Amino acid sequence: MAVRTGADYVAALRAMTPDVHMDGRVESVADHPAFAGVIASYAELYDMQGEDERLTVVEDGERYAASFRVPRSEADLVARREAARIRAEYSGGMLGRTGDHLNAALTAFSQAGAWFADADPQFEANILAYARWVKANDLLLTSTVGSPQTNRSVSTSEQGGGETTLRVVSQNDRGIVVSGARMIATNAPIADEILVMPQTVLRSGMDDMPYSFAFAVPADIEGLTLLCRRPMRRGTSIVDEPLAARFEEIDAVCIFTEVMVPWDRVFLLGHPAKSNTMFTHTGATALMAHQSVTRTTVKTEFYAGLMEEMAEAIGIDAYGHVQDDIAQALVAVQMGRSALRAAEADGFVNDFGFFQPAMEPLAAVRTWYPRYFQSLSQTIRKFGASGLTALPFEGDLHGELEADVDRYLHGRTLPGSDRVRLFNLGFDAAVSSFAGRQALFEYYYHGDPLRMASAYLSGADTASHRDLVQRLLDRSRED
Ligand SMILES: Cc1cc2nc3c(=O)[nH]c(=O)nc-3n(C[C@H](O)[C@H](O)[C@H](O)COP(=O)(O)OP(=O)(O)OC[C@H]3O[C@@H](n4cnc5c(N)ncnc54)[C@H](O)[C@@H]3O)c2cc1C
Repeated sequence: MAVRTGADYVAALRAMTPDVHMDGRVESVADHPAFAGVIASYAELYDMQGEDERLTVVEDGERYAASFRVPRSEADLVARREAARIRAEYSGGMLGRTGDHLNAALTAFSQAGAWFADADPQFEANILAYARWVKANDLLLTSTVGSPQTNRSVSTSEQGGGETTLRVVSQNDRGIVVSGARMIATNAPIADEILVMPQTVLRSGMDDMPYSFAFAVPADIEGLTLLCRRPMRRGTSIVDEPLAARFEEIDAVCIFTEVMVPWDRVFLLGHPAKSNTMFTHTGATALMAHQSVTRTTVKTEFYAGLMEEMAEAIGIDAYGHVQDDIAQALVAVQMGRSALRAAEADGFVNDFGFFQPAMEPLAAVRTWYPRYFQSLSQTIRKFGASGLTALPFEGDLHGELEADVDRYLHGRTLPGSDRVRLFNLGFDAAVSSFAGRQALFEYYYHGDPLRMASAYLSGADTASHRDLVQRLLDRSRED
């Protein structure tokens, strides 16, 4: 079963027994209203693989998800992008943790066995077998990297006296035993597997040794509790909540209580300095960024389209400041698309023999987008104004007030009920709790954007810029 259907995915979910808590214990994730919409969406994404050949790749006569395509050329990267784009278009980029994101990481890991073998040949065997198994079973993965937000002025090993952050507490001939928490894993309750990846910054030396590991566990492994945030969806109709009703990915704190992780699921242990480079040095960061920039570019397109539809609907599209806002969004779309093409065109065969997208253009977008994204919802609020509050429930669109809705809520180009539908989309994209969570998600998607910017600067080659300044200064001295 290398390509699952939606029914396969839901059946697998029903067979799992994760310890999920959301205002009390959730007996069945598949039947809980907070998960119903997003499970249906993920099932549809699985079904789409059977309907559109661009979403799969054939290897040795077997069909797999396209996100497992190992890129050997620029054309392969283009094919990966097209598949990622179709998946992103399905939700206007709102689904941030679709399977193709972590499949990109596994694809890189599956080629970079030598990097793992450098720590221990067994780790190479483990990661290769795991990647093959996930690919062959088309599983849905999520991941978690961050430590609990206890005290950010001290290091990982000092959080809560060393007791809060997930750590190795013992090991035996069966595997490692871990306890402690990881801050967040989006989608953990509806995923098959959780990748517990190295924290981004660990210090070399003995202090961070117990915190230095990479492994994978099933989402329902014994001893793992998933503590969910409150749902943003109010539970009304798709017309009332066009995005939240379908695309709300629930975030969960992962609490591990003496969880036994078998050795064959351990990909790295010890080696804090090496842990820090697991994504960058294997090419995983580049493949993941290629997927995420594709998604965020589609998301910008969605917001640009929404701006245009709303502006036209209420007759503000000819005003200069409105046109300026729309133009800025279109420019952002072009920047995203250009970065993707540049990353593909400047791609190269890396040390592990696969064709890796160039990181520089993708890193630039990753560093810029978290803050730029905030302006998109701001523009929707600016355009919509009170129209984003004049939004009756679906039931009132067709009840005794139908004639009033049409008379008083129609737009320049739309009848009342259609204008309400469009502005409901604007509300869910820019005003609702769902929109607030989207803003938070994009801001922190790649980590803290401010520290990301510092890292970007320290990795950037600015010598030629400074040389430009020096040459001008030299010329002015000569004059
Ligand atoms: C909606 C959502 C979904 C998420 N989903 C996932 C997921 O699926 N998997 C996953 O692994 N992670 C996930 N994350 C976590 C995400 O990776 C983190 O939010 C991000 O890395 C920032 O870490 P933090 O939240 O611990 O913030 P903190 O590190 O606690 O930062 C809080 C504030 O303090 C400042 N600050 C803290 N330390 C420093 C410092 N040393 N120097 C300067 N400023 C500092 C930051 O700038 C920030 O403003 C998710 C986050 C959100 C919001």
